[in-house]
Amino acid sequence: MPHAIAYAIDAPTGRFARTTIERREPGPTEVLFDIAYTGICHSDIHTARGEWGPATYPLVPGHELAGVVREVGPAVTRFAVGDRVGVGCFVDSCGECEQCLAGDEQFCDGPGGTIWTYNATGRDGLPTAGGYSTCITVEQDYVCRIPDGIELSQAAPLLCAGITLYSPLKRWGAGPGKRVAIVGMGGLGHMGVQLAAAMGAEVAVISQTRSKEADGRRFGASEYHAVSEPGTLRALRKRFDLIISTVSADQNLNARIGCLKTGGALVDVGLPEHPVQLSLGGLVGQRRILAGSQIGGIAETQEMLDFCAEHGLAAQVEVIGGEDINAAYDRVVASDVRYRFVIDTATF
Ligand code: NAP
Ligand code: ZN
Repeated sequence: MPHAIAYAIDAPTGRFARTTIERREPGPTEVLFDIAYTGICHSDIHTARGEWGPATYPLVPGHELAGVVREVGPAVTRFAVGDRVGVGCFVDSCGECEQCLAGDEQFCDGPGGTIWTYNATGRDGLPTAGGYSTCITVEQDYVCRIPDGIELSQAAPLLCAGITLYSPLKRWGAGPGKRVAIVGMGGLGHMGVQLAAAMGAEVAVISQTRSKEADGRRFGASEYHAVSEPGTLRALRKRFDLIISTVSADQNLNARIGCLKTGGALVDVGLPEHPVQLSLGGLVGQRRILAGSQIGGIAETQEMLDFCAEHGLAAQVEVIGGEDINAAYDRVVASDVRYRFVIDTATF
């Protein structure tokens, strides 16, 4: 059995510690790859700290994996040893339901539903363990190819943060002539600014403070707004065709909805711990749309990776070692990350 060195947490209030886990020998159509880098997504923190309900411990999070293929099963056709690959938020699905056939494996309606990369049960009946580890075995159809032009450390965050913004931006028509606002410029948000700008939209950042303004403009925003300044949202009333909110904490959604043009859409991708209060008048009165979005399917994730390579986009990362995970979590919660922590598994 291949072993992996991993970092696991054993309680919502626990701390990450080094451990060893077992991986499957690759089955006929499976790929075993060495994970070089893994991003720290805020979803890892929500899960590890029990903010979305009880998790299964010990927990090895990580759903932004980038690495190099070590071994392939005898019937693998899509990958070879040495290929640069990535895995995102899920590692399996039924492959047969309406959602899977439409390329939306993230909404699988099959018996086991979408099998998440961690905090789920894998096809071997064992708990899945994510990318805070040195290797993983995954069915080839759930693995993406990382284009040569993108460094592995900067590619890892694309597997969740990148696709989570690419999918709704494309679905809701970000492009020339459209005014798009990205609310919250963290891991997801900084990809959203770059992607929306590359799609040709006029992009605004709505952040808590001005501290990230220079970066926001460098990522492609032509406007930058700080809600800490009184009157900011009032001044943005009816300004945007599309707003994507990536905020990880409680926020006043009604005030953001007021910034949509008549008929505009606010797509929320952030998943804070508590329910939000919604005043329906802001939607009804202006025929506005409130929607959600969750990552993207495998084909769309590959499309996003290729789009990033074509447009020279990648995540801006701070590379850390395994021992730094606990401190990194606190910094993410404090919005003190520029713009994604990525764990270098060579430090394990
Ligand atoms: P992140 O790096 O922590 O970024 C979140 C950003 O939200 C922060 O950088 C900050 O931006 C803003 N923010 C934080 N606290 C705030 C507050 N109290 N009021 C207003 N704004 C605040 O997190 P992330 O990894 O990008 O993830 C963001 C959220 O999306 C999380 O809830 C995560 O679970 C969720 N998520 C969803 C999906 C999906 O498929 N839908 C996928 C991945 C993650 P500023 O400093 O610019 O204000
Ligand atoms: Zn994520």
